[in-house]
Amino acid sequence: MAMTPFSLDGQTALVTGANTGIGQAIAVAMGRAGAHVICAGRSSCDETVAMIEKAEALTLDFADPMAAKDVFAARRVDILVNNAGIIRRDDIVDFSEADWDAVLDVNLKAAFFTCQAFARAALPRGAGKIVNIASLLSFQGGIRVPSYTASKHGIAGLTKIMCNEWAAKGINVNAIAPGYIETNNTEALRADPDRNKAILDRIPAGRWGKADDIAETAVFLSSPAANYIHGAVLNVDGGWLAR
Ligand code: NDP
Repeated sequence: MAMTPFSLDGQTALVTGANTGIGQAIAVAMGRAGAHVICAGRSSCDETVAMIEKAEALTLDFADPMAAKDVFAARRVDILVNNAGIIRRDDIVDFSEADWDAVLDVNLKAAFFTCQAFARAALPRGAGKIVNIASLLSFQGGIRVPSYTASKHGIAGLTKIMCNEWAAKGINVNAIAPGYIETNNTEALRADPDRNKAILDRIPAGRWGKADDIAETAVFLSSPAANYIHGAVLNVDGGWLAR
């Protein structure tokens, strides 16, 4: 394959939540771009690994948000994609502490400490790329998802403060804010004809996003083509936020 500024040849990428959905698509796209991919998940990533030329599976369960703390000391990783995420729905007045903690632990605390562990290894090398998966709810309030909204606003903020601390030291930290993407996560919305129509009516592009739409953006932000992009929270949403 000819080298282009979009190539990840010779790079090792670690993708969290790589067993399914957006994470799986990102892992596969990274592999297609030439990276060796560490497919990390609490569920088995064997299916994803089988789809990639150079890949391996790693068990990483963010039930312990510090789970990745030793991963980057043990081996060189050039690209980190913080994709693992969960959502819990309830009215604010009924929202439980358990649902608050569960979402913040995976979406924000684990992402923060995984970035910290990655940076501790990458800073001495003066190179590295982090792509955090944010959301439209990094910019908007949403409805009945308070811990998710807080976590995704938080991930956008962390992306910026990490940029401030690490950009001059060779580490690019950016985020992708996906719009409505076809994954298991959004199956119930698509199955409800009224909600599906309301969503589609608001998307200028007129269609749901595909996991591959996010995956190709993640490859771009991880590649040399994005060397001067720092602290961006890039919405990939078919135009949702423009409306
Ligand atoms: P999925 O539910 O399909 O995938 C979520 C991934 O996170 C799974 O791999 C899941 O593993 C993993 N995960 C959950 N909890 C843990 C944990 N404790 N430890 C390790 N991994 C965990 O969702 P999507 O692919 O749709 O979402 C991926 C990311 O994109 C999330 O951060 C989500 O917030 C974000 N996003 C998605 C949008 C959409 O429309 N789909 C829109 C905006 C943002 P397991 O399968 O084992 O549960």
